[in-house]
Amino acid sequence: MQKTVVILGAGWAGLPLAHKLLKYTTPKVPKLKVILVSPNSHFFWNVAASRAILPKQIPDDQVFIPIQPAFERYAQENFEFILGRAENVDLQASTVTLVIATGSRLAGNTPFKLLGSHETTITAWHKMREQVEHAKSIIISGAGPTGVEFAGELAALYGSSKTITLIISGDEPLEGALAVRVTNTEEVAPAGPVEVTLTDGSTIKADMYVPFHGAKVNSAFIPDELLDPTGSIKVDKSLKVENTRNLWAIGDVGNAEPKQLTPYRPMEKKMLFIALGKKLASGHIGSWRLFGLIVSYVKGRKLFVDTAEGYVQGKHLRHAAM
Ligand SMILES: Cc1cc2nc3c(=O)[nH]c(=O)nc-3n(C[C@H](O)[C@H](O)[C@H](O)COP(=O)(O)OP(=O)(O)OC[C@H]3O[C@@H](n4cnc5c(N)ncnc54)[C@H](O)[C@@H]3O)c2cc1C
Repeated sequence: MQKTVVILGAGWAGLPLAHKLLKYTTPKVPKLKVILVSPNSHFFWNVAASRAILPKQIPDDQVFIPIQPAFERYAQENFEFILGRAENVDLQASTVTLVIATGSRLAGNTPFKLLGSHETTITAWHKMREQVEHAKSIIISGAGPTGVEFAGELAALYGSSKTITLIISGDEPLEGALAVRVTNTEEVAPAGPVEVTLTDGSTIKADMYVPFHGAKVNSAFIPDELLDPTGSIKVDKSLKVENTRNLWAIGDVGNAEPKQLTPYRPMEKKMLFIALGKKLASGHIGSWRLFGLIVSYVKGRKLFVDTAEGYVQGKHLRHAAM
């Protein structure tokens, strides 16, 4: 009997899962059919977004990589790619195994994550790049890893020729989100100057505003009873959706970190690598602060762009067993 696994979303979690099933499970279950559904035809190497968005740094085709050719080596009867978006989940129809990997997007629709189709994302991406190039002053709100990296990349490329303002919530960056009010728009990179009001009532003006606080989970099509109050899908320790039979949620959309299909264990030591341009970097593993040079060598030089093609091709699968 044919077994079908439908994976919704071809991002960091869904795409390698499809490769793993095709590579390691089909030899044992020859009638397995993997259906990968994604509204975007290209995988987005957003780990490098903070540098790739700057003019003439990283070519677009190194960060937006076509998905379908990466699956051409598998037998046609085992794989199907559907360019489309899930609109609804019927919990009663349990004929397939469904894996939800629809991820998240950023507040303000900053195109550092996919915005839907490839065309929508790349249009917003090019518009933002043009605005970065021409803005004399840029306000970045949200000093988490992405906001800090983007500020660092801007500073490394433009030095003092642009005024970069990074709004942070505490005394230091990377402490958490913050409350800012943008008076004339919530959009990224509005045309014309923007005025940002801080929680103390003071205001700052700039040519461009980029919000990096708040990620929104792509779970609007999931029945409410499966979601926690943040909109994330409630999963158990094996990433199975709570109180369902054949439904799984992996990656950002679930309320646990993605792991293998073994009981989920939170990481004991938190790790963070922050690139600040090609030469400077910072990071820690647990309470160990790393030498910037090491972080720069591992991440900052290339932002792993040299491994992107292989990732999309399924060549860097870390765990074989499924
Ligand atoms: C700039 C930036 C840098 C980052 N750097 C790092 C890093 O260095 N290390 C790290 O660990 N994390 C990093 N992250 C976080 C990382 O990007 C996310 O954790 C990761 O994208 C989550 O993967 P995912 O597969 O769950 O979701 P996503 O990568 O968001 O993929 C979701 C997929 O689902 C699709 N989709 C959405 N809605 C539907 C639908 N209704 N039906 C079907 N498909 C749908 C999307 O189009 C997409 O293909 C970074 C994030 C940003 C913004």
